[in-house]
Amino acid sequence: MIKNLIFDMGNVVLDYTPRRIASFFTSDPDELDFLCREVFSNKEWLSLDKGVMSEEQAIESIVARVPEKYHELCRKVMGGWEEFFLPVEGTYEQLLLLKERGYKLYMLTNASLKVYEYRKNSPAFDIMDGMFVSADVHLLKPDPAIYLRMLEKFGLEAEECLFFDDVEVNVEAARKLGIHGHVFRKEPDEIIKTVEEYENRTRNE
Ligand SMILES: [Mg+2]
Repeated sequence: MIKNLIFDMGNVVLDYTPRRIASFFTSDPDELDFLCREVFSNKEWLSLDKGVMSEEQAIESIVARVPEKYHELCRKVMGGWEEFFLPVEGTYEQLLLLKERGYKLYMLTNASLKVYEYRKNSPAFDIMDGMFVSADVHLLKPDPAIYLRMLEKFGLEAEECLFFDDVEVNVEAARKLGIHGHVFRKEPDEIIKTVEEYENRTRNE
């Protein structure tokens, strides 16, 4: 029986599309490519998510390895990208209905500590029964340890949980631990239907 629904954040609750976010800072195609490559997908980003680097250290580290003409742009983006990290339309409404049906809702995210600032971007954060953030525990999905730590923290049984994540390896890692998992394809209207399918499938377990 499914009692707990666990949601990834990026591309489930908020829309993490680097090019769309970068386009609020520049319309120059070369600068867009640069930002996607050097700011949104790099070792600093991962270190921030893992909670092993501060925002200031990350900015200095990026600036130290990119041409000077990009320095100001990098500082601007790193200082304010989260303002444009906006909701996946429709997710919140589905989550609210599921909460009203009695499910406990949790978030399990690879994210930096900035999540505690941009959580105001979606009311979905406020209806969570618990949030588990990679930067707080210095672990990243798909490391099995992060799932186990989360189950332990909130006192959850793996087989009573259904996990939604847009990254297949993250879902696979959850399944290996006995958590039901669903690969989310940015189709919020499918969330309730998916929960009902898993409910039917696990009813007699
Ligand atoms: Mg994601």
